[in-house]
Amino acid sequence: MTDDCIFCSIVAGDIPARTVAETDEALAFLDANPMSPGHTLVIPKAHRSRVADLSVEESRAVFDLVHELAPEIAAAVDADAHTIGVNDGPDAGQEVPHAHVHVIPRFADDDGGPIHVAAGSRPDLSDDELDAIASSISGE
Ligand code: AMP
Ligand code: ZN
Repeated sequence: MTDDCIFCSIVAGDIPARTVAETDEALAFLDANPMSPGHTLVIPKAHRSRVADLSVEESRAVFDLVHELAPEIAAAVDADAHTIGVNDGPDAGQEVPHAHVHVIPRFADDDGGPIHVAAGSRPDLSDDELDAIASSISGE
């Protein structure tokens, strides 16, 4: 619990939220300013700023709830699809510094795009550059 965190305040029950599901370690509630009907946030109950700050168990708890809820959200709002994603860090657009997964119902006739548009234009990377990045990530 972090006193000045709005999502910790929701977990504590100090501010209201439209809770749709809860487990021991995760909570799901409707986004107060939704991108589409049914836009839901799934959070760890413990204050964790970024995805990498979650324990493996917390990470599983959050994604398990995403997995369970996605079809239920779609059915509730008659959605055709979802965009499921995390703004992981301020440079990626994270405004609330308590990690959260957005589950955004999508519709065939909405005016949104794929998640790729979130990252701007594509870099022109050579095979060597891609090989070097893969090696750097894998540590091999
Ligand atoms: P992000 O930019 O990924 O940090 O997204 C934060 C999200 O939290 C936004 O979509 C907000 O609409 C949502 N949000 C902020 N405050 C609340 C709140 N009190 N209850 C529900 N959703 C909220
Ligand atoms: Zn918090």
